[in-house]
Amino acid sequence: MITKRLDISPENYGDSIREAARILKNEGIVAIPTETVYGLAASALSEKAIKSVFTAKGRPQDNPLIVHISDIDMLYDVAEDIPEKAIECAKRFWPGPFTMVLKRKEGIDKSVSAGLDTVAVRMPDNTVARDIIIESGLPLAAPSANSSGSPSPTAASHVLYDLDQKIDAVIMGENCKVGVESTVITLVTEKPRLLRPGAVTVDQLKEILPDIEIDRAVLTEPEDKEKVSSPGMKYKHYAPKTNTYLIVSEREKFVNFVNFKKNSGAVCFDEEIGDIEIPAISYGNSSDEKTLAKNVFSALRKADELGVNTLYIHAPSKTGVGLAVYNRLIRAAAFKVMEL
Ligand code: AMP
Ligand code: MG
Repeated sequence: MITKRLDISPENYGDSIREAARILKNEGIVAIPTETVYGLAASALSEKAIKSVFTAKGRPQDNPLIVHISDIDMLYDVAEDIPEKAIECAKRFWPGPFTMVLKRKEGIDKSVSAGLDTVAVRMPDNTVARDIIIESGLPLAAPSANSSGSPSPTAASHVLYDLDQKIDAVIMGENCKVGVESTVITLVTEKPRLLRPGAVTVDQLKEILPDIEIDRAVLTEPEDKEKVSSPGMKYKHYAPKTNTYLIVSEREKFVNFVNFKKNSGAVCFDEEIGDIEIPAISYGNSSDEKTLAKNVFSALRKADELGVNTLYIHAPSKTGVGLAVYNRLIRAAAFKVMEL
């Protein structure tokens, strides 16, 4: 199939939004920008469209999708038995990089939730994404618009690299501001639980949910892969093609370690790249977690172009949005983490 490039410069904006909505209403699939990463959108009411998303991405069938809405009222079309805390969270964190797992409402296709009786819901902080939802009048299921397992796409060019000719259209939008996927919490367990860290931090969540628990899978490899509460967390994920290790260490030790490695490359911080003698890509200053989040996935894609056999990534701190970056990188390294 030919993948349409939809231009959203001011003179074409309206036409492109209408074309994206038309494709979605006809059960097609369209990659759209959001503030986190590019999403591959499909009608959450169409089993056929959802199937196309799983096929285009090569996504495991048991990994559910997040449903995107454009205003709080739409939440009632997607979920039911919505607790008061969910409304408080929605008012505080939406639109934004924040997803809640709630009880799924009938009408939302079962395949969206990979058969679970729950549904993950988010309102993105991106005008283009919200305009497409409004124009189509549909809740949109949208996982990241990459091939399953590869680094998430934060630019339209990343989407085309992975999915050209596999999807109906891509919105040629700007690069994503946040750069890592949304924070996911569940509110269907006895206590609220963080399933995936993102740009809404644990400290922010605690202001509304003081008793929130952090799922083990956030920082460690799940032992029993059948029992993970967020299926997406059990896979090797976000990974470059190159064999990758995550290195937890101080600056000097990291530099000395990688400088002895032959046929290898480094993904490192701004303040150390000048001392690194092997091919290297920086993803920002170590103290600036927001920039690290914004750059991490494009750095992983660029690292695959270095022509090396092995990659060593310098791990960020786990504070603030750094926790989300660390969570993605342990998976990018297939849990091969070394402390120096
Ligand atoms: P992605 O679409 O790539 O952003 O991944 C969506 C993430 O949300 C995955 O980690 C899923 O496992 C998680 N998720 C989506 N729906 C649910 C659900 N109903 N219950 C638990 N986790 C979910
Ligand atoms: Mg993904």
